Amino acid sequence: MNHKGLDTPIQYVKGVGPKVSQRLATMNILNMKDFLYTFPRTYDDRRSLPSISDLSLSTPTTIKGRLISLTENKPRPGLNILKGMIQDETGSIAAIWFNQGFLKRVLKIDTQVVLSGKVTVNSFQSERQFSVANTEVISAEDPSLYVGQVLPIYALVSGLIQLQMRKIAKSIITQYGPLLQDPLPPYLMNQYQFFSLSDAIKEMHFPSSREYFQSAKKRLVFEEFFYGQLILEKRRMLSKQNIPGPQFVVGGPPSKQFIDALPYRLTKAQERAISDIETDVSSPHPMNRLIQGDVGSGKTDVAMAALMMAISSGFNGAMMVPTEILAEQHYRTLKERLSPFNVSIMLLKGKLKVSEKKEAQLQLSSAKRTIVVGTHALYQDPVVINQLGLVVVDEQHRFGVFQRMKLKDKGHSPHCLFMTATPIPRSLMLTVYGDLDKTIIDELPPGRVAPKTYVLKEGGLTKVYSFCHQELQKGYQIYIVYPLVEESEKIDLNSAVQGYDILKSQVFTHHKVDLIHGKMKSEEKEAVMNRFKKGTTQVLVSTTVIEVGIDVPNATIMVIRHAERFGLSQLHQLRGRIGRGGTASTCFLITSPNVSATKDRLQAMASTSDGFKIAEYDLAIRGPGDMLGSRQSGLPSLQLADLVKDEKILLIAREEAKKLLQQDPLLVESHHQNLKRHVLSMKNSCFSEGQLN
Ligand code: ADP
Ligand code: MG
Repeated sequence: MNHKGLDTPIQYVKGVGPKVSQRLATMNILNMKDFLYTFPRTYDDRRSLPSISDLSLSTPTTIKGRLISLTENKPRPGLNILKGMIQDETGSIAAIWFNQGFLKRVLKIDTQVVLSGKVTVNSFQSERQFSVANTEVISAEDPSLYVGQVLPIYALVSGLIQLQMRKIAKSIITQYGPLLQDPLPPYLMNQYQFFSLSDAIKEMHFPSSREYFQSAKKRLVFEEFFYGQLILEKRRMLSKQNIPGPQFVVGGPPSKQFIDALPYRLTKAQERAISDIETDVSSPHPMNRLIQGDVGSGKTDVAMAALMMAISSGFNGAMMVPTEILAEQHYRTLKERLSPFNVSIMLLKGKLKVSEKKEAQLQLSSAKRTIVVGTHALYQDPVVINQLGLVVVDEQHRFGVFQRMKLKDKGHSPHCLFMTATPIPRSLMLTVYGDLDKTIIDELPPGRVAPKTYVLKEGGLTKVYSFCHQELQKGYQIYIVYPLVEESEKIDLNSAVQGYDILKSQVFTHHKVDLIHGKMKSEEKEAVMNRFKKGTTQVLVSTTVIEVGIDVPNATIMVIRHAERFGLSQLHQLRGRIGRGGTASTCFLITSPNVSATKDRLQAMASTSDGFKIAEYDLAIRGPGDMLGSRQSGLPSLQLADLVKDEKILLIAREEAKKLLQQDPLLVESHHQNLKRHVLSMKNSCFSEGQLN
């Protein structure tokens, strides 16, 4: 084996035996390169340490001195006290180690030690002493590993100590750092005055100054974004160039008739979205478009228009949604709107019996003029859809990237339309969604009034209910939502059911109250939603199953219990269930007793109905993984970069990636060879000839 390269196993470092290398392996450090890229959790600035005579009380600090005496005391079982005198040029202080008797072996008189801890006062003898938390005995080989510089502090697993890690780091950086090949082309290095890769890595472990550290980090953050952007841009280019898609004929009478038959006029934004789609689907390559429009902006009509384009071009369509309730709703809407044009709509949801599955499969494999609406069942089961020309994924943020990809496999590169109401902050848009074309529907249908939002304690419920009664009198309907999270599903479900019982028997005694939750049978849920949609029931108590997509314009009040337990984007979605007719609507966010910390967060909901602002806020406090509802973004993960704080660097990385690919799409130029090697080695790369993932 070649023990010179960066892939040399970690146990070849001096001082790393089998035990240590096993522990490092649990931190995913297997070879030299892994170590170089395991950055410190934080740093210990030991550039100048206080002299012993200058020590102030109680502040944690680090001192260096000579050990001039040591005694051991065992005043009672289970208590071991080591006491020693530490001396430097300015004076001396007693050092105390509690229950660290094992240090006896290394604490030899006359050795130089570095101790971290703090000065306390022994009240009995009123004597100052240094109570030691961490001990390092300076060995002759490399004094700079202990003091005089900023030292790394790594996240550790048990059995490893900082000093050991520091030594390993120093030796790997010196020996293997210079072997790092810099993938960034020289002109970018010059333009942005970046550190070389090996210098940047060195600075991350042993920063020479704050400024150097920051420049090093900036370079590495740029890299994290840059390769991801190259891959996304390449994917986008490939999907445009290489793959033939079903070419639709657009602008024909069927699509026009569908639009003319709508009971309202499309908004300008809806028209724009439809025309973007027309351009895409009539080209010979598959569409990959994300339609982003706030809750209630009328995305369903846009989807239907697209589906009509497929139908009138002789293809079938599929629409995938995240919940059964939404599947039901879309099924009914599509049936109502599209049946007049001789289109059959099929519903595929939940767990199908074997016989049902067979039947559905049979139908779909020979389907004509058919649109199938379905939940996860649609891609989980091996159904093949005849002549599948268009796949619409509604509320796409609920699906992982890989789930999305899978649905495409049901046909031969069908056109894909992704729809989302959760506003995606720009930085996420550029990373996770960077390979999609986008249309934003930035307009709500006319006459919409944004819901008024109030944050209240449970004590305010009586008032809320009397307000509800007034609205019920006027013939409007009400949602009352309880949180339900998987981890505490049972308790949550109980509180929703109990809430329902009380509301029904004590609060809304003159009206019909219904309950809906995810554990109910599919038919039950369907019946409940139907009753609410028709207005047979006026109050719907529910868990979060109604969060996305549900459209009952006559509902004007949303009461959300334990609102502090919801994410902001989730609250925005829920609130989007009201304010869909032309009337005023009200959302009450009711917090549990004793919550105050979340008040500000909820107040943000009250102060804006702008989904973008809310999403930015959410991203900042919860991080991207949560926002996406799934951590499988399918892109290289970000170790140093922060999507919110580093957005500027992201934008630069994106511009540079685009420019580079425009100019050298196959990375053939000589100054791109290191770069090419690097992106080819990445998991999600698509730079190998003609390959698309
Ligand atoms: P979302 O974008 O949240 O999916 P929907 O497609 O469910 O929104 O539409 C919300 C409501 O607005 C539906 O009741 C729909 O019929 C209605 N709607 C859609 N477009 C218009 C329009 N141009 N004018 C008036 N109402 C519309
Ligand atoms: Mg919708």
